[in-house]
Amino acid sequence: MTRLPAGVMREATIDVGAISANVRHLRRLTESEVIAVVKADGYGHGAVRSAVAALEGGATRIGVADVTEALALRRGGISAPVIAWLHAPGASFAEAASANIELGISTFDQLLSAAAAASVDRPVGVHLKLETGLARNGIAPEDYRVVFAEAARLERIGKLRVVGLFSHLSNASIEDDREQLRLFHDGVSVAASAGLAPPLRHIAATYAAIDLPEARLGCVRLGIGMYGLSPFADRSSADLGLRPAMTLRAAVSAVRRVPAGHGVSYGYDYRTPRETTLALVPLGYADGVPRQASGAGPVAINGQRFRVAGRIAMDQFVVDVGDHPVAVGDEAVLFGDPTLGAPAATDWADAAGTINYEIVTRIGPRVVRRQVSA
Ligand SMILES: *Cc1c(COP(=O)(O)O)cnc(C)c1O
Repeated sequence: MTRLPAGVMREATIDVGAISANVRHLRRLTESEVIAVVKADGYGHGAVRSAVAALEGGATRIGVADVTEALALRRGGISAPVIAWLHAPGASFAEAASANIELGISTFDQLLSAAAAASVDRPVGVHLKLETGLARNGIAPEDYRVVFAEAARLERIGKLRVVGLFSHLSNASIEDDREQLRLFHDGVSVAASAGLAPPLRHIAATYAAIDLPEARLGCVRLGIGMYGLSPFADRSSADLGLRPAMTLRAAVSAVRRVPAGHGVSYGYDYRTPRETTLALVPLGYADGVPRQASGAGPVAINGQRFRVAGRIAMDQFVVDVGDHPVAVGDEAVLFGDPTLGAPAATDWADAAGTINYEIVTRIGPRVVRRQVSA
C-alpha cells in the first residue's frame, strides 16, 4: 500500500488511472457515449483531474451542476464540451456562453437567457431538461410544446443549438424508472414534431446505465461509477468491475497504553474493557469524517481492522487497537479499495447512516489530495 509522504499528517490519494479504467469499463458495458459528471469538485476527487482522467478513459463530455463549476474546468484547461444544469434565478449566461459552456435548460426564461447570451457567430448549446417524475427541475409536460416551439425558432435564427434532450431518474423501482423513460420518449416525440432532432438524448446516471439497458439511449451521465463506487446496496465496486479511486488515510499521531476502564474521547462514550493500546488518528468531522460514525467507523492499521472508539471530534478520533503493535507514524486507512485490504467508503456510509456519495464528497479541504496512478 502507498505510504504517506514524510511530514504529511493526512491525505486522500486519488488514483486517476482507476477513474480512466472505470470510465472505459462502463463505456464498453453500456456501448454509449459518456458524460462524466464532476460536480462538487469531482465528488471530492478534484474536478479537473477527474475530468482529465475521464476524457482519457473515453468520455466525450463533462457534466457539472452549475456554471461556476463549468468555468473552473475551462480555467483548468478542459476544452471538451461541458454542460451545466442548475442555475441561479435570473442568471445571465454571458460568461458561460463566451466559455462555450452548454446549458441544461429547465424553464422558458432560461431558454430566453441562453439565447440572449449568443454571439453573432456562435449559438449557445443547450440541452432541454424534461421533468418526467423526479419533481426537481425540468420543463413540465404541459409546457413542452411552447418551450420546444421557441427552442426550435431560436435554433432556426442561429441563437441556440439544441444539443440534447435529457431527464433524470428516481431509481425508486424498475417500474418507476420505466414509467419515467416512457414519459421521456413521449417528450422526445413532442420535440420532434416541434422540429427538434438533437443528436443526444440522455436519462441514465450510473444506476440505470448499469441496470436498465433500455435507458442508455447511446449516452449516459456517469458520476459515482467513474469514481469506482457502487450505487447499489447489494453490489460492491468489485462486483461491478470498478476500482475505488479515493483512499483516505492518516498517520497515527499518538499511541498510549491505558488500563481497563479508561474513558475515551468526549463524554467517555467508550471505556476500555481491559488494559489496551489507544491510537490517535488525526482526521475529524472537519475533514468530512462523519461524527455519526462515532464508535462504529472502520479503520485498517497494519493490516488489522479496528473501529473508532468513542466520539469522533473535529480534528481527530481514537482507535482501540488492543495488543496489536501500533506505533506513531503507522498508517491508518479509513477507506479505499477493499481488494487491497482497505475498508470501503460504503462501510463508512453504513456506519454513519448515509450513502457512499456523501462520504467521498464531504472530505474537507484540509485533507491534501495527492494524485497517483496505480
Ligand atoms: C449527479 C448527477 C448525475 C450523476 O449521478 P451518479 O448517480 O453519480 O452517476 C447524473 N445526472 C444528473 C442530473 C446529476 O445531478
